[in-house]
Amino acid sequence: MNIRATVWGENVHERKNAVVAEVYPDGMHTQIAKLLAEDAQITTRTATLDQPDHGLTDDVLADTDVLLWWGHAAHGDVQDEIVEKVANRVWQGMGLILLHSAHFSKIFKRLMGTPCALSWREAGERERLWVTNPRHPIAAGLPPHFELENEEMYGEPFSVPEPLETVFISWFQGGEVFRSGLTYRRGAGNIFYFRPGHETYPTYYDKNVGTVLRNAVTWAYNPQPAIEDPTKAPNVPVETALEPITERGPKLHAKGEEGLR
Ligand code: ZN
Repeated sequence: MNIRATVWGENVHERKNAVVAEVYPDGMHTQIAKLLAEDAQITTRTATLDQPDHGLTDDVLADTDVLLWWGHAAHGDVQDEIVEKVANRVWQGMGLILLHSAHFSKIFKRLMGTPCALSWREAGERERLWVTNPRHPIAAGLPPHFELENEEMYGEPFSVPEPLETVFISWFQGGEVFRSGLTYRRGAGNIFYFRPGHETYPTYYDKNVGTVLRNAVTWAYNPQPAIEDPTKAPNVPVETALEPITERGPKLHAKGEEGLR
């Protein structure tokens, strides 16, 4: 098995903010890719906002089994056309992993259909992630809970649809809790939202976070062939009905006409 992962990084704060540049001198996407490379079954490439098509050309998307997405400052700069292409690839079967502030990315909101809002506080407080689903493949090899000494707080209510599974719940030093590891399925695509990863803290150097991301890539991978056109909506001719039927009643559409969209 070889899983082709693409790590998409906005790569804005790393170049504009001295604190972030010190923690992630080669960009967050590069460090996330390094974590994935610890699994020999995952081959990883990176893509960034400033590249043509944000590095997500048709060829790259077709060649990606699982896409990881980190964005924060420039959600609005992501072209809608690319967002639609990514959504289509998810419906076809590509896995998608949304990291931290990607809760407000266009692609997550597009696929969730809800505001995806939350409360937050930047105070470097301790985050304790509790594994709520210990036999879930994304939690494999993890202790019952693990801590990140400095993280941004995200608090409930998190306005996302009810997930298929909740793999982690976070507790923060200030008292809030948050559903920090959620799974979804959209079309044939597996989706995982993972909360930690604020850019001023070394979260993507953490051993347990690395385990979660590698597990998540393996979990999100769908080995089935892609659904060629997930938005296809064919008009089925009367004469091909499985049981013979006679056309009757008033009609809106002409014979063989395409449906309205
Ligand atoms: Zn943050």
